[in-house]
Amino acid sequence: MAEGKFVIEVLKKIGEKIEEQKEYLTELDQPIGDSDHGINLARGFGEVEKKLPTLEDKDLGTIMKTVGMTLVSTVGGASGPLYGSAFMKAGMAWSGKMEITMEEFLEGLDAAVEAVKQRGKATVEEATMLDAMVPALEAMKTAGNGAGDAKSVLEAGCKASWAGAEHTKDLVATKGRASYVGERGLGHQDPGATSFSFMLEVVKDSL
Ligand code: ADP
Ligand code: MG
Repeated sequence: MAEGKFVIEVLKKIGEKIEEQKEYLTELDQPIGDSDHGINLARGFGEVEKKLPTLEDKDLGTIMKTVGMTLVSTVGGASGPLYGSAFMKAGMAWSGKMEITMEEFLEGLDAAVEAVKQRGKATVEEATMLDAMVPALEAMKTAGNGAGDAKSVLEAGCKASWAGAEHTKDLVATKGRASYVGERGLGHQDPGATSFSFMLEVVKDSL
């Protein structure tokens, strides 16, 4: 499904997408947080982009681990360590691999979801990025089992991810900064669930 060159291209496009959606993501973070999610991620992926040329010949594990470490050290905010560990754990799943199959892609995503759960001490229905990640992963596992092609698997994942992001409007946050506003957060879409959906969309559109 994917080799290093493709992954680097996707990471570059994720950076562009985040930059393009920076203001929107930051706006989403205004009523329930501190108006910095888009700014945080754009800073992190800006640093990632600088490192991509040095990663061209590396295995997927090294690429993803480098991205994760860069995000941890540059994003700031809760999303830095969360996305950072997600990328690092996916990298550990892909350690030494120059190429991955769809099944291995999903194993990496599975490891990423587990990393966010552990690091954030959170689960679904708490109005976080997990409300997009978990349904997306489930949908892709189901679609993948039907031996669907990569594009249709990612299409199923994106659909579930955006539905999950939308669903965060109906949830009262119990983790992270958004938990401080309690029920006043109702009706607002979680910025992290939204940024994850944008990232997955980039993967889909790159196939
Ligand atoms: P901060 O909240 O520190 O300002 P960001 O604004 O960059 O950091 O990121 C906020 C996003 O991080 C939220 O929208 C949510 O998706 C995610 N998040 C925050 N805390 C947690 C947690 N404990 N578990 C999972 N995701 C979380
Ligand atoms: Mg914030």
